[in-house]
Amino acid sequence: MCTRVMDFTEAKYRIEQLKAVLWENSRKYYVENAPTMSDYEYDQLMHELEMLEAQYPEYATEDSPTRRVGSDLEEGRNGGFAKYPHRYPMLSLSNTYSISEVEEFAERAEKGLEHGFTYCCELKFDGTAICLTYRHGILFRALTRGDGVQGDDVTANVRHISNIPQRLSGSGFPADFEIRGEILMPFESFDRLNHERELQEEPLFANPRNAASGSLKLLEPEEVGRRGLFCTLYHIPAGQVDYPTHDQALKAASSWGLPISEERRVCHNIQEIEDFINHWDTARKELPYATDGIVIKINELANQTALGYTAKSPRWAVAYKFKAEQACTPVLSIDYQVGRTGAVTPVANLEPVLLSGTMVKRATLVNEDQMRLLDLHEGDWVYVEKGGEIIPKITGVEESRRKPGARIPAFPTLCPDCGTPLEREEGEAKWFCPNSKGCPTQIKGRLEHFVSRKAMNLLCGEATIGQLYQLNLVHDAADFYRLKEYQLLQLDGWKEKSARRFIQSVLASRDVPFERVLFAIGIRFVGETTARDLARHFGNIDALAAASQEELLAVPDVGEVIARSVSAFFKDPDNVAMVQSLRQSGLRFSVEASREKASDALKGLSIVISGNFSISRDAMKALIEAHGGKNSSGVSSKTDYLLAGSKPGPEKMKKAAEFGVKVIDEQQFMSMINVPEGDAFSGAFARTGSRSDAEEKASLSGTEIMEPTLF
Ligand code: NAD
Repeated sequence: MCTRVMDFTEAKYRIEQLKAVLWENSRKYYVENAPTMSDYEYDQLMHELEMLEAQYPEYATEDSPTRRVGSDLEEGRNGGFAKYPHRYPMLSLSNTYSISEVEEFAERAEKGLEHGFTYCCELKFDGTAICLTYRHGILFRALTRGDGVQGDDVTANVRHISNIPQRLSGSGFPADFEIRGEILMPFESFDRLNHERELQEEPLFANPRNAASGSLKLLEPEEVGRRGLFCTLYHIPAGQVDYPTHDQALKAASSWGLPISEERRVCHNIQEIEDFINHWDTARKELPYATDGIVIKINELANQTALGYTAKSPRWAVAYKFKAEQACTPVLSIDYQVGRTGAVTPVANLEPVLLSGTMVKRATLVNEDQMRLLDLHEGDWVYVEKGGEIIPKITGVEESRRKPGARIPAFPTLCPDCGTPLEREEGEAKWFCPNSKGCPTQIKGRLEHFVSRKAMNLLCGEATIGQLYQLNLVHDAADFYRLKEYQLLQLDGWKEKSARRFIQSVLASRDVPFERVLFAIGIRFVGETTARDLARHFGNIDALAAASQEELLAVPDVGEVIARSVSAFFKDPDNVAMVQSLRQSGLRFSVEASREKASDALKGLSIVISGNFSISRDAMKALIEAHGGKNSSGVSSKTDYLLAGSKPGPEKMKKAAEFGVKVIDEQQFMSMINVPEGDAFSGAFARTGSRSDAEEKASLSGTEIMEPTLF
C-alpha cells in the first residue's frame, strides 16, 4: 500500500488508478464471478483509496467505489434479467480484520445511543445476497443486490432452491414484506459441480461464493435446482415488523417457515462478542458451507433506525472478517513472470504444502515493494494464505528459521523474457518491460487475452498460441482472421475437426458486440466495464480514436489514467493498423453495426439449445440469429426445434417429447444452415450474403482487400 506523502498530481493519479482497478475487479467479482485478485488485496486497495480520499477530498468523487456497492447487475449478458428497485437500499457492511476495530464500533455505538442496548452476533455467510418479497404469505419476487438500488429479478431461479418456501406457514407475518439473506452453495455441491466442469473442460469456479452467484444467474431454472443451492435469511429491514429486536424478528420469521440460522447469539458486551468470534473462528471449519466472518449488529430495531446508514453500509453493524488459513513452508526459488501489459510479478516456488484442502506449490509475491516489505531472504520459510481465492499469497516470513548468511534476492533489472532493461514509472508499484512490441511473453499474453472467453471467445488456448507464434503464423490479433486450414493442421495434435471448430469460432466472433471487441484489443486499463462504457458513449471506434482528453474524461468512471491510455493506444500506428485489419475481417467496431444476416435458412423458427457443442453456446446462439432464427430459453408448444448437444438438460428433453418438438443434433443443425460436414470454410462463404465469395475467401486467406474507412 502507498503510504508516503504525495503531491497533488500524484495523489490524483493514484486515486484514478485505484478507482479503475477497483471497479474492474468489482465487476469480475460480482458479475463474472471470476475474481483475479484476492479479497484481502482488494480490501487493502479499497483502504488505500479511502485514506487518499480523506487526505485529498477534492479528488473524492460520488462515483468512487468507496461510496457505492459493487454491482452484480447483468447488462444484457445472457439475455439479461428484468430489473426492479429495492424498497430499501441493499447495502454492504463495513468490515474489519481487527478486534480493536470491533471495540471501536462498540464504543461509537455506546456514544451514539441513549438507551441500553444489546448486540446480535451472527455468522457472515459467504454466498451471494438475495432479497425475497412475500405478499400475503406467497413468494412474490426474488432480487439480487444489484447495484444496491435495483436488483436482477431471479425469482424463477429462486423457486428451484428447495429450502425457500413458496408459501409461508404459521401466522402473524406482514401482508407484504421483504426479507434478506444469502444464497449459498455447500462445499459438497461445489466439489461436485467443479468435478463435472473439469470433465467438460469448462473453467472451474474459484470458490463456493462465485459458484453460488454464477448459478443464481443461470438462464435455466431447472439447472439452478440441480446445483444444490440453499438459502439462509438474516435481515428484515426495520419498519416492516413490529418486534423490538432483530433477534425476535428472526425468531418470528423462523416460525413462518423461513430458513433462519440458529448460529447467532445476543451479546451484552465486547467480551461476549469476542468469545463468539473466537468460538466460530475454529468451529466454522466443521460447517458444510463457507463463512468469512462474524457480523455484529445492534439488536434493537429502534436503535438501528437511530444510527442509520452511510452511503454504503449501515452504521449499526460491522463485519469482522476471519483471517484466511495459513501454512508455513520454505521458498525454493523465485520466478519473475511477465504479463501481457509487461508488468513483472515475482512468484515464489514453494516446498508443496497443504492449505485449505489443496496442495500449494506457488504463491505470488505481488511486486518488489512487497518483497522488501516482507524482508524476504533466499530460502526463507514463509506464511502462505489462501482466503477463498485461487492464487495463494505470501503474507509473512518466519525470521527465526532464516539460514545464517541468507541473501536478499535481487529483483531483475532486465526483462527475464527478452532482456530489455525494466522500467518503473512514478506511482507504479510494478516494474515493466517497455518492449511491448518485441517481448514474446507480452505478445502472446495479448493474443491470449484477445481469444479469451470474455473477449472474442476463439477456440484456442495458451499452448496453441505459443505454437502459432513460434511458427510465425500469428503475431497480432488480426492474424487470427488470416489463418488457413492447412496452417492449423501443422499444430501438434490438430486434426480437421479441431481446425474446423476453431474456424467456426473465428466466424462466430464477427458477431461479438463492439464493447467486447474493444475489450479484446487490449487497451491498458480498459477492462470489461470501461470498454462497455466507452463503446456506449462514443458509439464507434472512429469517434473513440478521435476523442480528446476532455471528451474521454466526460465518460463516467473514466479518469486521467484511462483517458491517457486510450489516447496513447490510438497514437500507435501498429495498433491503428491492427484495428483496421480487424475491421476488414468483419469485426464490429460500432454499437449499431448489425451484421447483415448470413441467410434466412432459419427464418421464423424458434430454437431452444441445450447441452454442450463443439463451439460455445454463445457462438451457437449467434449462428441461429445470423441465419434468421430466434433463440428461446424454454421449450413450449411454440418451439420448432430443440438443438441438443452432449448432455442436454433432461427437463428440456422431457418437455420436447411432451410438446412433440423435433430434437436435432449439431450436425443436423449445421446442414440446415448449409455448413457441409468437413467444409466449414466453404460452408461459411456460401451462407454469407453480405460479402462476395472472393472477398470472404480473401479476408480469411490473408489477401488484403482495401475498403474506404474513416479510421
Ligand atoms: P461483504 O461481503 O464484505 O459484506 C456484506 C455482505 O455480507 C452483505 O451484502 C451480505 O450479503 C453478506 N452477509 C453474510 N452474512 C450476513 C449476515 N449475517 N448479516 C448481514 N449480511 C451478511 O461486502 P460486499 O459489499 O458484498 O463485498 C465487498 C467485499 O467483497 C470486499 O470487502 C472484498 O473482500 C470482496 N470483493 C473482492 C473482490 C476481488 O476481486 N477479490 C472484488 C470485489 C469485492
